Amino acid sequence: MPHDAHYVGAKHKRWREKVLRRAGYLCEECRRYGRLDKDGLPVAATVAHHIKPLDEYPELAYDVDNGRALCEKCHNKEHPEKGGKARRY
Ligand SMILES: [Zn+2]
Ligand SMILES: [Zn+2]
Repeated sequence: MPHDAHYVGAKHKRWREKVLRRAGYLCEECRRYGRLDKDGLPVAATVAHHIKPLDEYPELAYDVDNGRALCEKCHNKEHPEKGGKARRY
C-alpha cells in the first residue's frame, strides 16, 4: 500500500475541514507571529498538518487536536525532511 494511503478518503477530508474551520481558515503559524500576506491580510490556511507525525502516531490521524491549519509556506517548514518540497499533509 502506498505510504500516503492514510490521507486519501472522506475521513481525512472531514478531519482537514474541521482543523481548518477551527482556525478560521487562517494559518495558525502566521497568525502567531502576526504575519500578513502581500495584501496586508491574514494569511489563509490551505493545509491541515499533523502535529504528531502519522508514521509514529497513526491513531491520531483523525484527531482534530493533532491538526494545525497552515499555509503552504509554513507547512513546508514543518517538513524539512522532504527537502522543502510541497507536501499536502
Ligand atoms: Zn503561514
Ligand atoms: Zn504536514
